[in-house]
Amino acid sequence: MKRWNGWGNADTDYPVPPSALDYLTQRLGPLAPTPDTAKETLLAAVSESRLPAHPRVNASAETRLTHARGQSMHDWVDLRYGRLDTFPDGVAFPESDEDVRDLLAYARNAGARVIPYGGGTSVVGHITPLASDAPVLALSLEKMTRLLDLDETSRLATFQAGVAGPQLEEQLKARGYTLGHFPQSFEYSTLGGWIVTRSSGQQSYHYGRIESLFAGGTLETPRGRLEIKPVPASAAGPDLREMLLGSEGRLGVITQAKVRVRRIPEAEGFFGVFFPFWEQGSQAVREIVQDELPVSMLRLSNPPETGTTLVLSGKSWVGLADRGLRAIGYGDERCLLMFGVTGSRRAFNRTRREVAVLCRKHGGLFVGTIVGHTWEKSRFLTPYLRNTLWESGIALDTLETALPWSQVREASSAIPQAIVEAMSKHGEQVLAFAHLSHVYRDGASIYTTYLFRRTADPDQLLSRWQDMKHQASLTLQKYGGTISHQHGVGTDHMPYLPDEKGALGIDVLRAVCKSFDPDEMMNPGKLV
Ligand SMILES: Cc1cc2nc3c(=O)[nH]c(=O)nc-3n(C[C@H](O)[C@H](O)[C@H](O)COP(=O)(O)OP(=O)(O)OC[C@H]3O[C@@H](n4cnc5c(N)ncnc54)[C@H](O)[C@@H]3O)c2cc1C
Repeated sequence: MKRWNGWGNADTDYPVPPSALDYLTQRLGPLAPTPDTAKETLLAAVSESRLPAHPRVNASAETRLTHARGQSMHDWVDLRYGRLDTFPDGVAFPESDEDVRDLLAYARNAGARVIPYGGGTSVVGHITPLASDAPVLALSLEKMTRLLDLDETSRLATFQAGVAGPQLEEQLKARGYTLGHFPQSFEYSTLGGWIVTRSSGQQSYHYGRIESLFAGGTLETPRGRLEIKPVPASAAGPDLREMLLGSEGRLGVITQAKVRVRRIPEAEGFFGVFFPFWEQGSQAVREIVQDELPVSMLRLSNPPETGTTLVLSGKSWVGLADRGLRAIGYGDERCLLMFGVTGSRRAFNRTRREVAVLCRKHGGLFVGTIVGHTWEKSRFLTPYLRNTLWESGIALDTLETALPWSQVREASSAIPQAIVEAMSKHGEQVLAFAHLSHVYRDGASIYTTYLFRRTADPDQLLSRWQDMKHQASLTLQKYGGTISHQHGVGTDHMPYLPDEKGALGIDVLRAVCKSFDPDEMMNPGKLV
């Protein structure tokens, strides 16, 4: 069963190793966890539904509570401190395109707003109902998970858009195929959610971001159905797929999506390389992409992230490895690169060798599969740390951007620094670290994680978080970065969008929303 006030499956835990807790306490100060609000208290706070009855709409307090928030910092604070003041008035569970059309008509007649709900994994406030005089219908696609067609000749699979990562890969695997889209939220996030948030998987370097995997599909809108035919390429004017990508539920509901699939690869592996300094690691990574070595994943952690990752892993070999690395000159400034190789056996062996040689040229120490294997095993487990850290008194959040290589060096230290400075104004410490998470020939994505002490007062916690988030956002914009490389806009990034798109750009986006949804019933208040 899914956790109602945190990340993931309620039966899965990722305990913080005691040594890691000591490490974090030394950096943040003594911790004072406060208890969570009981579910019963929140259930009692769910107000009466304003929606008329409908056979596919569940208006129970339990269902409305469990669809009321996503995974953003605001969402967590609302759920854990018991500050929920908005709920959907009901949650609809369609099973077909026809059901979705019927529910959109029902919502229009009821004067309701509609929030399409995929896996509820948004980290930027996409699915949080805003206070409104109108009733709110959350439209969950959790019953729309089927593989409808697999065209093996064209390697195109058609899925109902509510399919979550594991369900999608299982259905493809049974036929010998994979999509290869593995965001860290893979366990719960859905195909429709990936498309409308422009999601990026951990191995996007090989498989492509969702933009290149999404070939076409069906959007049910308040003005009718939009069908986008899958063609390999087209010069027939602007590409309508692009309008759906990143639309964040504002245009309608994606009910079906056609995606480009591949045969399951013959070989795959993940490897680790230590560099004595960041500069050498980032040069190596840039050369790997610019020389077009066919890796599937590259992730270069800065020194604080390298240290914290090793401590949080809780592995017994970490102490030994630390002493060994120091003895040969990989000290406090060392950086860990994780790279993945995916493909045919021959290409796999060749690429692994070539990457190891290139890294050595930059002072890299190839450590084989031990670190890569640990990463692979816990790649979808690490988000569970957010639960256990929170329960120990620590809040964790992330932010990400992408910018040209010419800015990467300065921005990758300036962004965590902005977070540290914002928190020092409150007399508090924060542990902020970063990694290059996705790399391109012309630039890279910088993914920053920051941990800080929770307070008993949720307003104080949120005001500190807001200061850090704001200063980091201004900093990444100063270096020419996008406000989001993969998480989307929602409500949290909305104030920064005009700077990125310009006034005319925002006008155009508004006009597009309006043309699909003249009465603004689809997820208003998000994106623009
Ligand atoms: C622990 C964790 C790790 C994450 N890691 C990654 C990562 O590696 N890469 C990445 O890209 N993102 C990541 N995310 C962010 C999040 O998982 C993505 O934004 C994801 O694409 C959201 O999908 P979802 O199905 O959960 O959508 P939801 O959160 O349910 O909804 C997000 C938005 O999409 C809309 N929507 C959903 N389905 C549809 C549909 N069928 N039609 C129209 N609109 C729809 C909703 O209205 C909302 O606006 C992570 C989040 C968490 C919590």
